[in-house]
Amino acid sequence: MQRSTSANLFARARELMPGGVSSPVRAFGSVGGHPIYYKQAQGSSFEDEDGNVYVDFCMSWGPLILGHAFPAVVEAVREAAGRGLSYGACCRAEVELAERILAAFPDKQRLRFVSSGTEAVMTAIRLARGVTGRPAILKFAGGYHGHSDSLLVKAGSGLATFGTSSSLGVPQEIASQTVVCPFDDLEQLEQVFAQHGPRLAAAIVEPLPANNGLLEQSPAWLQRLRELCSASGALLIFDEVISGFRSRFGGYGDGLGIPCDLVTLGKVIGGGMPVGALAGSAAIMKQLAPEGGVYQAGTLSGNPVSLAAGLATLGQLADGAAYAGLEELGAHFDAQLHAVGGKQLQWRRCGSIIWLYLDQGPVPRRADAIDAAAIERFAPLHATLLEQGIYLPPSGYEVFFLSTAHSPAQVESLALAVAGASGG
Ligand SMILES: *Cc1c(COP(=O)(O)O)cnc(C)c1O
Repeated sequence: MQRSTSANLFARARELMPGGVSSPVRAFGSVGGHPIYYKQAQGSSFEDEDGNVYVDFCMSWGPLILGHAFPAVVEAVREAAGRGLSYGACCRAEVELAERILAAFPDKQRLRFVSSGTEAVMTAIRLARGVTGRPAILKFAGGYHGHSDSLLVKAGSGLATFGTSSSLGVPQEIASQTVVCPFDDLEQLEQVFAQHGPRLAAAIVEPLPANNGLLEQSPAWLQRLRELCSASGALLIFDEVISGFRSRFGGYGDGLGIPCDLVTLGKVIGGGMPVGALAGSAAIMKQLAPEGGVYQAGTLSGNPVSLAAGLATLGQLADGAAYAGLEELGAHFDAQLHAVGGKQLQWRRCGSIIWLYLDQGPVPRRADAIDAAAIERFAPLHATLLEQGIYLPPSGYEVFFLSTAHSPAQVESLALAVAGASGG
């Protein structure tokens, strides 16, 4: 496959942007080679700048549950754009999308739109601190919540301690207000709350951790986290930016029957356009400005074009048929891979989210159990699949996504290609 146009664009980009990219993982640093430049995309596939066509299993990292350029979504965007790109004022779409989202979260009454998942989380954390008057937050190692200061934190030395920043530029004073605990460890969870509970404004967790592998937790673990938060007066924030509206019409946590105090959303609710949101009870959300004293604002928040994409996307999902179809497609992938897979090829799938783990033995459920060698094995697999016209996210830590645009035949080809490239 000839990719000189992508190579040339990347060479130019590196003279213009740090690492040549607008977001780090896109640089292909962990798989080698250079990024592929998308030229156009439709349904399950895209064409690169050199005219090569690939089946896309990255799907913009999650938002594109209906595939690329789904006609009803594109039409809604085109129509909204013709009526103005931004008002910086109130519009009907925000009322309608808020109604639609809140109807899917029965215990939430108020919602605020923002422009990204990062912003939603950052606001939820500030709101939790404002509501409780407490400074500290708890996160879990391997959870990703965007790039705001409080959350670019990794575990310090020792068990369940306050964290240290995982990025330059985050003051230790800020990092030290974030406690980091491992997943899948009830004992340490109890210990964290015993030690830090009274200082915790909130615990934030992806109820389906899907940003550092797919570290699905047991419902009992999540339930215990809920109880510990309630007992200590900390809010529980479910970061559902990736999982919200992904496997059911609403929250993944609600699907398990475990309630949270605040939920953060993004990705699918924007249908490929920049949208984020946080939602909670009226009592908590009224603490946000202008009703309350916790400040948050945005020039492009509630953007009419973005929200039109969200409304059109959720409109396609509301009857649940898409989720049933995606589950079927995912089960088909499982069956295919079971039939052809080898020993050093494990995977975990939750609905339309899949993580390949190129090792023997069980797929890890906590970040520190992920074997670096398994991640290294992903790089040659990624390169081999690219040559066959299959595009996976360029890192072994990343999950990939099925959309309603993918066909059973494409999923079969993927399984065969993965099995072949991983040594069968
Ligand atoms: C993607 C993601 C974010 C960040 O959202 P952006 O729109 O990239 O800022 C936050 N939390 C989770 C769980 C995510 O998957």
